[in-house]
Amino acid sequence: MHAPARDSIRVAGARRVYQVRGGAELVALNNVDLTIRAGSFVSVIGPSGCGKSTLMRLVAGLESPDQGEVTVSGLSPKDAAAAKLLGLVPQAPALLPWLSVLKNVTLPLRVNRAASRKRAAVPGPSMEELLRKAGLQDAMHKLPSQLSGGMQQRVAIVRAFGLRPEVMLMDEPFSALDEFTRESLQEQLLDLWDELKSTVLFITHSVTEAVRLSDTIVVMAPRPGRITDVIQVDLPRPRGAELLKTPEFHHYEDLVRDRLRGAFHANAA
Ligand code: ADP
Ligand code: MG
Repeated sequence: MHAPARDSIRVAGARRVYQVRGGAELVALNNVDLTIRAGSFVSVIGPSGCGKSTLMRLVAGLESPDQGEVTVSGLSPKDAAAAKLLGLVPQAPALLPWLSVLKNVTLPLRVNRAASRKRAAVPGPSMEELLRKAGLQDAMHKLPSQLSGGMQQRVAIVRAFGLRPEVMLMDEPFSALDEFTRESLQEQLLDLWDELKSTVLFITHSVTEAVRLSDTIVVMAPRPGRITDVIQVDLPRPRGAELLKTPEFHHYEDLVRDRLRGAFHANAA
């Protein structure tokens, strides 16, 4: 919807092999090609061990491919990370327990000059405004331990988006949360994405979550880790709770489930 025709993430022919015990090789990713347009929301779904997190680590510049190439906004992932173009939300919120919520989200701006320069260069809401929008106005001066898991993850998401990265990488950020908290965080994530126009690469195990959030769903299969399907989700936005009950929404859920099943059985064959 707000996607200019510019590539944000490009993965070409990526292969990643790990040495495992006994000297054997484990092909975590093989021949992965993926192009993501700036501003789009892309989910990656697939069974455990199919290489989702490995793919994300390559895009984040935390690891390099053994073959192939990865670029983020035309830069190597390491350069993109150094320029603070990349934001990361892990599965657990990773907040500093001795700092208030407000101090946690503003910490990167206080200790990292590149982060504060990047943020100053791109106009947008302040951290306080983002916290208020995320329903955290009463939590700003509390410690993380005084918040529920869902609220802590909300803080981590605000902190990451507040730096206004061009690319946001999220590895199963809602998987530890209950269904209600999850749905409310999905809505807030979509609001933030809409406001800040980041490209989002989002890993999930949930078919419903992938369909609700994404422009594009990438289906992966294991052994070797690879992309088996790319599905465009042609549903209107905004995607409120009512949309989840429509036949169109169920159509996409069924489609993704079928493709996941296909990806799973491709290995047994
Ligand atoms: P996913 O996130 O889809 O569950 P991962 O990307 O974490 O999958 O892992 C893909 C495969 O690579 C798995 O079989 C995993 O055990 C293996 N793997 C991941 N990281 C390492 C590592 N550092 N050393 C050895 N094997 C690894
Ligand atoms: Mg993983």
